[in-house]
This record gives sequence, C-alpha cells and structure tokens, in this order.
Amino acid sequence: MFIPRADFGYGPKNGKDSKIPEKRIIIFSGAGISQPSGISTFRDADGLWENHKIEEICNEGTWKKNFEAVHDFYNQRRMQLNEVEPNIAHKTIAKMVDEYGKDDVYNITQNIDDLFERAGTEVLHVHGELTKMECEACGNNWDIGYKAFDIEKDRCPKCDSLKGVRPKIVFFYGQAPMYSYMLRAFDYTMNPDTIVIIIGTMGNVVDVNSMLMGTKCKKVLCNMEPSKDLPEDLFDKIYYESIETAIHKIEKDVKEWWNKD
Ligand SMILES: [Zn+2]
Repeated sequence: MFIPRADFGYGPKNGKDSKIPEKRIIIFSGAGISQPSGISTFRDADGLWENHKIEEICNEGTWKKNFEAVHDFYNQRRMQLNEVEPNIAHKTIAKMVDEYGKDDVYNITQNIDDLFERAGTEVLHVHGELTKMECEACGNNWDIGYKAFDIEKDRCPKCDSLKGVRPKIVFFYGQAPMYSYMLRAFDYTMNPDTIVIIIGTMGNVVDVNSMLMGTKCKKVLCNMEPSKDLPEDLFDKIYYESIETAIHKIEKDVKEWWNKD
C-alpha cells in the first residue's frame, strides 16, 4: 500500500508557482469497479445479513457483542473474493500506473477486496482489507488470505487472543485512519493539470463533492447512474455506464489531458 508524498513537490520541479503542488492522476473507486467482477455490494439484498442490518452488525460500538455474526459475515465475503477475478478496469488502471509511473498515479479505493493487487498494482485502501486481520488486544496485523477465521480454534498468532481479533475493516462509526492520506492525495487537485477519476461510488460515504468543489483540475466520473451527491457540473466528462466499457474512453481522456502543452 502506498502513501501519497507529503511534500507536494512544491518548488522548481513543477515549473510553475512554487505554491502549486505537482500534477497527479488520482483514481478514486468504490463498489462499482468491482461489481462487474461479481462482488456483490452491501446494498444488494437491502443491506441485510441474515435479517439484520449490516450497520448494526459491523458497527464499531457493537461488533464485540455480535462477534460471531461479524466473523460469519466477513468469512463469507472472503470466500466469495476467492472466486472472482480482477476485471478490465482493474487491469487497465494497473497498466496506467506502469505507463505514467507510480509516483504520479495515486490509486485509492473504498473497496476492501484485493482485485487491484491481483491486477498487479498497489492501492490505498481507506476502508480496510478483507484479506487481513487485526488484534485489538496487542495491535498485531496479519494476512488471512481467503480463509475463514474459525472462532472455535483460531486465535491471534501473537498474543493468543480470541475476543480481540477482528477483520482489518473500518466498521460503521469506526475511525478511518487512512482518510488523512486520501485527503493528502486530493490536495494535489490544487494543480489545474491534475486529473481526478471517480469510479463506481455514489459519493455519499466519502464526500467526493466537497473534496473536489472549487478545484480547477480535470475531473471525470463513471457511474451506472446519476447521484444527487455528485453534481454533474463538477465534472469535465461523465460516463453513465459500466466501468468495463468506460475504462478505455477514460484512458484516452487521460492521455489527451496529461500530455497537453
Ligand atoms: Zn493479539
């Protein structure tokens, strides 16, 4: 997982005003990029898990009370992840990172799946990672891959805790420490030559609108449908279609914008 540079490249390197950060390509994705791979979203099935609201189960304040249901829920999702593959959008973005260079492309996702990694590129996960576990008792983090966490026999490999073990996921009402790095990346929107690509998010969990409002950089949106939280006049280009068909158009837009002048 990468961390956006903190110095913003201020100075002579950007060839312009020293108060303007260097230009970047910022990709910010949500569930809509992984849906074509077959990953169902929280909102499918009315956001219910065995007749309970997911907000009630996977909730920072109540997860310990719902310990078994929380592990059941994420065990199922982890096993589902093992059965899907990255799609053309993950792969094209991985190719773009290679082409433009990983110092210039900030790939950020709200998704907890590992489809970008499997497409061969790094991504900043702002809502956690399904293939990782953490222990609240000792602070340990570890990879669990696509395996279920068996509450009968599995324990924290470092301190042997059971009750402290949770998926490394930002639950509802939980802290999201990676947001600070996401906001740092979006500071690069102060360069008008920066390009922001918003894919498959309605913009209501992370407030995309307020992060982009007033910026003069190039902005492109791809979603299946309009969202009241993403005003259309914010964007230079909008694709209301599957990211599978839009990604090559976006690739062309980026090429055109990035190489101008
Ligand atoms: Zn532990």
